[in-house]
Amino acid sequence: MSSAMDYIVAVIIVGVIVIGGIGAALVSGARRRSAGELPRQAKRPTITAPPTTAPAPEESAPDSAADVLEKETAAPVLERPESRASRLVRLRQRLAGSQSGLGRGLLALLSRDRLDEDTWESIEDTLLTADIGVAPTQELVVKLRTRMRVEGEHDARAILREELLALVDPTMDRAIRTSGAGSEAGGGPGVVLVVGVNGAGKTTSVGKIARMLVADDKSVVLGAADTFRAAATEQLQTWGERVGVTVISGPEGGDPASVAFDAVKAGVDAGSDVVLVDTAGRLQNKQGLMDELGKVKRVIERHGPLSEVLLVLDATTGQNGLVQARVFGEAVDVTGIVLTKLDGSAKGGIVVAVQRELGVPVKLVGLGEGADDLAPFDPEAFVDAVIGD
Ligand code: GDP
Repeated sequence: MSSAMDYIVAVIIVGVIVIGGIGAALVSGARRRSAGELPRQAKRPTITAPPTTAPAPEESAPDSAADVLEKETAAPVLERPESRASRLVRLRQRLAGSQSGLGRGLLALLSRDRLDEDTWESIEDTLLTADIGVAPTQELVVKLRTRMRVEGEHDARAILREELLALVDPTMDRAIRTSGAGSEAGGGPGVVLVVGVNGAGKTTSVGKIARMLVADDKSVVLGAADTFRAAATEQLQTWGERVGVTVISGPEGGDPASVAFDAVKAGVDAGSDVVLVDTAGRLQNKQGLMDELGKVKRVIERHGPLSEVLLVLDATTGQNGLVQARVFGEAVDVTGIVLTKLDGSAKGGIVVAVQRELGVPVKLVGLGEGADDLAPFDPEAFVDAVIGD
């Protein structure tokens, strides 16, 4: 009898919570609309808002059925992304793990008693194998030859370190520009457009950058303008949900420029610090790519100039990556490079090659599949990782 009563009470509580939930959703939707948060358009974008705080527990002790329901409806706990300092220490070790082979090989060759032609050829081969590129390899070999002749007996390691560092160019400005052009006038989020070929790690990098910004206490909106890959939108929504970032998306196959516009508008309306826009990366048709990215850029610029255009490149693709860099460089004015999958490649020389190709710095490096496995690119730490201890 009492278990029947318990069951009835549980059913009533469940009913009240469900009806209350629907009511609350309708009220909050109406409130959002009246506050003008949704872009006033016939074709509304999908807004995946961050989860709010978990509902307060009922006053009266809930029975087991309500307990279960509460657990199921509780908002997910937001993750706190890893701080900049902590990730730098952790990822520096990973970088050293993947790149030290190159430095070890070079140092072993440079430390030979006689630096004959065969040795210099081997040094050249080692550099080329690491994807540094033909012209930078030749420049480096000329410099190393001269310096090793003059001062070589003393410190091959120090000479190699200096010359590699000069090649990577520590003078380039590698800061990600996230402040809006309109910010001096008192408004406007920074807008970062992220481009790159499918599979390079673009969507993942957008998610990781969002986490870096959240860790720096910045408010972020994500625009899922890769409307051709349904999974890209879902992927981005998951990244957003984990750290409480709003994601603006559109229908599959919809107009990427419209999603980009809505995302920036949502960022402006919400007074956000940064809007990150993911884009589609189909390379089959260069003209199509250029038209699409050009339109996305123009539409965003109706709100104000872009702060940054980041090209995501997969470090493991070697020469192919350089061809991609060239095509994207022609389609949009790339201002920085995100080099992904450096953890899975000993060919860190691509940093040098791609900077030469585009004339813009590598700003971030991806060093794993973990959510916080992205780090600002630091030339000194990179060269130290290459040379090893
Ligand atoms: P997109 O098509 O360019 O958006 O590529 P995705 O973001 O979907 O990434 C493609 C794959 O690359 C995924 O499995 C990612 O986990 C992986 N990936 C991205 N960045 C890195 C990285 O820095 N290191 C490693 N090992 N994998 C990565």
